Amino acid sequence: MKIRRGIPVVDGVVIGEAYILDGEHYRVTQRFLKAKTAEAAEQEWQRFEAAAAAARRETERIKEQISGEVSSEVASILNYLALLYEDPDFIDYVRRRVTKDFFTAEHAISRKVSIYRKEWERHEVTRARLADLDDFERQLLRFLLGEQQRTLSDLQKPVIVIARDLTPSQAASLPLEWVRGFVTDAGGKTSHTAILAQSRRIPAVVGLGSITGDAVGGELVILDGREGRVIIDPDPQTLAKYQDRQERFARYLLELDELRTLPAETRDGHLVTLYANIEFPDEIADALRFGAEGIGLYRTEFLYDNENPDPSEEDHYLAYSRAVELLGGRPLVIRTLDLGADKFVPDGLQHEKNPFLGCRSIRYCLLERRDVFWRQLRAILRASARGDVRIMLPMISSLEELLEAKSTIEEVKQELRREGHPFREELPVGIMIEVPSAALLADVLAQYADFFSIGTNDLVQYTLAVDRVNAKVAPLYQPTHPAIFRLLLTTIEAARRQKIPVSICGELSGEPHFTLPLVGLGMRDLSMASSTIPKIKRFIRRISALEAGRAVDAVLTIQNATETLEYLNEKAREIDPALYGL
Ligand code: PEP
Ligand code: MG
Repeated sequence: MKIRRGIPVVDGVVIGEAYILDGEHYRVTQRFLKAKTAEAAEQEWQRFEAAAAAARRETERIKEQISGEVSSEVASILNYLALLYEDPDFIDYVRRRVTKDFFTAEHAISRKVSIYRKEWERHEVTRARLADLDDFERQLLRFLLGEQQRTLSDLQKPVIVIARDLTPSQAASLPLEWVRGFVTDAGGKTSHTAILAQSRRIPAVVGLGSITGDAVGGELVILDGREGRVIIDPDPQTLAKYQDRQERFARYLLELDELRTLPAETRDGHLVTLYANIEFPDEIADALRFGAEGIGLYRTEFLYDNENPDPSEEDHYLAYSRAVELLGGRPLVIRTLDLGADKFVPDGLQHEKNPFLGCRSIRYCLLERRDVFWRQLRAILRASARGDVRIMLPMISSLEELLEAKSTIEEVKQELRREGHPFREELPVGIMIEVPSAALLADVLAQYADFFSIGTNDLVQYTLAVDRVNAKVAPLYQPTHPAIFRLLLTTIEAARRQKIPVSICGELSGEPHFTLPLVGLGMRDLSMASSTIPKIKRFIRRISALEAGRAVDAVLTIQNATETLEYLNEKAREIDPALYGL
């Protein structure tokens, strides 16, 4: 039994078989064949031979393709790699391990390569070639696992997915109906894996460091998404304890579902409207099921991926129209492209040294690719003819940026008028407050924006200078930092004075221990990962605006993040004990 601790991102207890994915390609690291029979071993051996032949052909093809263009040193490396595929020492080793010890071909290859690696590390000449050895292993595994990659989407049993991190395209190809949990080496509370898991209410623990190396495909794993604990190969007592918790958690979810049609109303009659954050229109059905009253944040950059790195106006338009249709008259806040850094990185932004501070998001749209921005704005405006669409601009850091974006929107409207395309003339244009300069300048920005939505994921990152996706500094990523409360206060007051709506769409709006101070600060619109809506609703129905106001007074006197967190957890535990102990 191995116990590992990580960052809990989606509550829940699940027990299931490990399914291991690699960062570059799917990697199912099962050490032994399921059936230890001569027939299974023979099949595995044939699988290896086919993969080795394909890898050798690929190396030959590359050799021919680049012959004459490369140095003699590179040519000799390629020759050497081609030879390695036929090296009797290597081949015999794999054959013995597969047929006598029932190793999987992958495991046999990795074992032999690690033996080579130890030998090669001892001599200077071979030490310089270690990267080639890694290439050799990767190449072979790629051909072996290619077959399994195709069958991944045919997965027919529940699994707990264990990965280094999940890229959006990997996530998109996963059959989520079979995924009971996510566990990753990398990531923090606002990483893409976390956001995906939240939107589907799939229990998840991230930032575990090297869990992909600790677990083997097919092993039994317990995932405790509340405590951030992952237990590999549990002993019988531990397993029984968690089976019991799993059942209690399922009962708690049923209780939450019963609140679906009730309003999020405090005990003293204050209504809070709960919206969902989405990345794809397909998530809308789930969001409505969880009780969302609209979409407060549609992250449109997820239209972009390696297969479609440059979507057309029609691609945008179809996605937005579909979202409008699915919402049946409910509001849809479309955020314009927030490309770069932790999101999809388009061509031209790949080599920035400091991507989070680089030419990303609204800067990319205004400075680098106005054509891309224009195309998107046309599509949003056209879709606005079909429902309650609103535009939200990300990463605004100055008034000039907001004014320039607004005048671009006006120009696009002119063009559509000339072409006779209908759109919603009074379409609201709001901004995200996610850069400290915008929060500090909120009184000015509120005069020109139709609404604010506070993006605490980035606001925390930029205010505290802590990378939101770097697990090493995750403990320093503290949304309860007093500096964050001050910026929230400044922003909310500025919005109130200017009488514009203000909401929060960062992950903390889905964290119950923040609900009390947010309601106390006067927030009446919150947008969150849709699966968190039921527990936030239950929480709101247990509090009064009066006690929420008192909690804000208390928080503003505390001078550090840890004590604030303790205070808020204590309050939340009193209000809804089920959030803490099951
Ligand atoms: C945020 O920064 O808080 C936010 C909601 O946007 P994203 O997580 O997409 O950067
Ligand atoms: Mg952001």
